[in-house]
Amino acid sequence: MDLQALRVLILRKLQDGRLPHYNITRVWSSQTNGETCTACDLILAKDRLLMEGFSSPPGRGPVQLHVQCFKIWDEERRMMNT
Ligand SMILES: [Zn+2]
Repeated sequence: MDLQALRVLILRKLQDGRLPHYNITRVWSSQTNGETCTACDLILAKDRLLMEGFSSPPGRGPVQLHVQCFKIWDEERRMMNT
C-alpha cells in the first residue's frame, strides 16, 4: 500500500471512529504475534515491531499499529484536533 492511500484510509477511520481521536494513554512497542493492524487492516508480520496502546476513555480495546501507521495516525489526529 502506498503512503498516500494509507493516509487516506487512516483519515477515513478517524472520521468514522474506527481509530481513536484522542491520545492513547500508554504506548509501547513490542513484537507482533500475527495481529491485525488497526489502521491498515493488514496482518502484522511476525517479529516486526508494532506500536501498541490503550486509548482513553476506556471501553475500547487496545490499538495495535505498524510503526509507520502509528506515525501517520498521530499526525492526522493532531491536525484534526487543532
Ligand atoms: Zn498498518
